[in-house]
Amino acid sequence: MSEKEIRTQLLVAGKWQDAADGRTIPVTNPATGQVIGQVAHASKADLEKVVAGAQAGYQAWRNLTAWDRFVIMRKAADLLRERAEQIGRIMSEEQGKPLAQAIIEIQGAAGVIEYFGEEGRRLNDELVPPRAPYVEQRVLHRPVGVVAAFTPWNFPINQIARKLGAALGAGCGVIVKAPEDTPASPAELIRCFCDAGIPAGAVSLVYGVPAEISEYLIAHPVVRKISFTGSTPVGKHLAALAGAQMKPVTMELGGHGPVIVCPDADLDAAAERLAAAKFRNAGQVCIAPTRFLLHKEIAAPFIEKFKAQMSALKIGNGLDEGVTMGPLVNERRVKALTELVDDARQKGAELWQPDISMPNDGCFFPPTLVLKPTLEMRVMQEEPFGPIAIMDEYSDLADAVTEANRLPYGLAAYVYTRCERTERLLGEKLEAGMVAVNHHGIGVPEVPFGGMKDSGYGTEGGPEALKAHTITRLVSALHE
Ligand code: NAD
Repeated sequence: MSEKEIRTQLLVAGKWQDAADGRTIPVTNPATGQVIGQVAHASKADLEKVVAGAQAGYQAWRNLTAWDRFVIMRKAADLLRERAEQIGRIMSEEQGKPLAQAIIEIQGAAGVIEYFGEEGRRLNDELVPPRAPYVEQRVLHRPVGVVAAFTPWNFPINQIARKLGAALGAGCGVIVKAPEDTPASPAELIRCFCDAGIPAGAVSLVYGVPAEISEYLIAHPVVRKISFTGSTPVGKHLAALAGAQMKPVTMELGGHGPVIVCPDADLDAAAERLAAAKFRNAGQVCIAPTRFLLHKEIAAPFIEKFKAQMSALKIGNGLDEGVTMGPLVNERRVKALTELVDDARQKGAELWQPDISMPNDGCFFPPTLVLKPTLEMRVMQEEPFGPIAIMDEYSDLADAVTEANRLPYGLAAYVYTRCERTERLLGEKLEAGMVAVNHHGIGVPEVPFGGMKDSGYGTEGGPEALKAHTITRLVSALHE
């Protein structure tokens, strides 16, 4: 049973409160299957108050100077760092990931918030030289308004930090619809902003039925921008709703990360780093490596090394010492992955799972290799979003590139090679928003984070992410 029962409330106009009608949704620990608390379920009456509070909160926030906003954001980041272990325990309990990974996520989120707070101080206006005398052309970058941010359960804090950071840094207000599966750790993140002194209503937090909340918020005139992270079908649906309202969106959607391992790669480093990236968060990562394209000369030794990494995983409750892979977030995901693996087996794949102990209860799924894949298998078309790695061989690099670019996804792609020429070529040819070569450190705040094709549009890192929360306006004045 939970050390402390989860009782997550809504944040409405700066006040923590239960839903007006008292409704709640149960929260389950995926490592044990036990209900560990409840989260408030917002109804339309709550949303109306949230939007009114957000409108006022946004005005108060944008009227602060960029410096004062930065000071509050830095304070929130500091509080998050101080509380990392305590919040990490909550996250591990409701989401399943190992405590060490939860703490890394929280520390990373603090860095994101701090970065965007700083970047907001550099959101400079511009003076454009005129063509006519005495004309002054000022280009202003002003906050777009209140942003509705919809975030998923895989990184309960970091997914919000990216959206919140960029929006607040630009001077926007934010209504966060956080994940119902993992509600308590996001609430602790938002509490850091409240404790840091953010004006009431500048940030709001709701939970409920995602489709009801998104339909309400996207259509509401106070909401001026939509930001979503989640699956491609839901992203397309929300982008269409936003399009009908002429509202801009940032979409961070699914992926099916291709990996090209070249014959000159350092195989030990590749196996170790790729396995760490694959099984982190039990593979529930949009940028996880998924389709491994191995040059035929090194395929067999690479697979052996990768299997050794899989055999070294320690699977269990994320709060237990030494555990390196926790459960999936819920039973729905276990069922989805079981169906994908069964489909691959029936269509002739060779499957391999390490001989390691697995807990009997909870939403655990074994790390699985899919060998000898064919294009008919669903796992070669759909994002597995779990601890499944597919291994295939190639002879000609051009064929590997064609396979890597085959799917409509285009989020992250990986390359392992010691050849700078190959690295540059693949950096150009791979259709992905992010290409990482010989490492996986692509989630830092300063650089773009986003996809192309069905993986979405817009970026959640770097100055571009901040600019995406502004409206560029021209003031052209004749001073005679
Ligand atoms: P899902 O498609 O039901 O939901 C994905 C996310 O979207 C959830 O957070 C959910 O609350 C939200 N959502 C669903 N319908 C919505 C709506 N109408 N309005 C607003 N939000 C809505 O899938 P799921 O079972 O929760 O997750 C499975 C799939 O989601 C995975 O296979 C993966 O492709 C994708 N996913 C992606 C990410 C990511 O980081 N890109 C994170 C989590 C899930």
